[in-house]
Amino acid sequence: MSSAAAGVEKTELLGLTLPHLTRALDGTADRPFRARQIYAALYQRGVTDFAAMTELSTALRGELAARFRLSLPEVVDERRSADGTTKYLLRLADGASIETVDIPDRGRRTLCLSSQAGCALACSFCVTGHWGAGRNLTAGEIVAQVLLLRRLASLPEGLNLVFMGMGEPLLNLDALRDALELLSATISPRRITVSTAGLVPGIDALGRWSRRPNLALSLHAPDDERRSALMPINRTWPLAELLAALRRYPLEARRRITFEYLLLAGFNDRLEDADALARRLRGLPAKINLIPFNPDPVLPDWMRRPDETAVERFRDRLASQGWTATVRRQRGHEVAAACGQLRAFDRAPHGRPARRGAGAPIAAPKPG
Ligand code: SAH
Repeated sequence: MSSAAAGVEKTELLGLTLPHLTRALDGTADRPFRARQIYAALYQRGVTDFAAMTELSTALRGELAARFRLSLPEVVDERRSADGTTKYLLRLADGASIETVDIPDRGRRTLCLSSQAGCALACSFCVTGHWGAGRNLTAGEIVAQVLLLRRLASLPEGLNLVFMGMGEPLLNLDALRDALELLSATISPRRITVSTAGLVPGIDALGRWSRRPNLALSLHAPDDERRSALMPINRTWPLAELLAALRRYPLEARRRITFEYLLLAGFNDRLEDADALARRLRGLPAKINLIPFNPDPVLPDWMRRPDETAVERFRDRLASQGWTATVRRQRGHEVAAACGQLRAFDRAPHGRPARRGAGAPIAAPKPG
């Protein structure tokens, strides 16, 4: 048997929760104990090579390496921007590609993870959506992004994770839940944020989990007309239903929902829009994160980033009404690592035809 053929038959262990890992070790002596050792090596210490699990006997390490795999994605490209943000293009076992972004910010460190190798939701302002749907990542492929980065970059304690890379995490709930369980060995769910375009059933499902990450919601417009123009998903779950789901969402004490609000010049960045947004969110435990639009050659020409004064005025308007409103700084823009700029490289774009210059705003901002 060639080594390639032998490799195909090996069982992947990365991404298995402890009960599944224990089951997979079928036939291994003392397997509940061994499973706990391997689990701790992987998810507490980040050891992804059987040979380096020196707490196991040489014989067992050899047996494991013969029967099992621990696959990390292959780094195809690595781009560091002047602000220190590093974008990794990763190739998965089946050739699908994803991007993961490492964002240092003064004392803090955030990894922006992908949950799918593409995105079916086709938001008009997002490059990932432009490439179209991609498959769900497995729990192992989600966790592997963190384990790989742990190996490549020295990651500090107190790492933050945001599911704001490629894909819609709430369309991949099972893998997301398993991944969070594995990651919880070193990272508290309080340091993990899952951002959604607003899938009501997914939000309800997340609300039933016993350990919940922070929730961020991509709102982007204060009314259905403009939100549907940007995000087709809004036609399935319009604002009233979405906000109702958020109102019934069981938030833990002292937590708030983050509302992401994309700012597009002349479309949703007027002071009346800030007021309309504030009215929509009234009564919700919310903080607002304003994201000035990040342009990209594949995105419609009419979409523009507002200037800094407009962004500040918008933020101040919300703050003056008592809201916590922050502006997301643009990070990694020169290497196309900023929000909405992640793309699949294993295939051509097909999500939406590139109609440069043709995409005029469907809804003009409403007065008042
Ligand atoms: N699918 C999830 C998570 C991925 S996006 C979601 O929709 O929330 C992470 C954030 O980047 C979202 O708020 C998204 O709306 C925003 N984003 C997408 N394209 C952008 C762009 N061109 N400029 C600025 N932010 C963008």
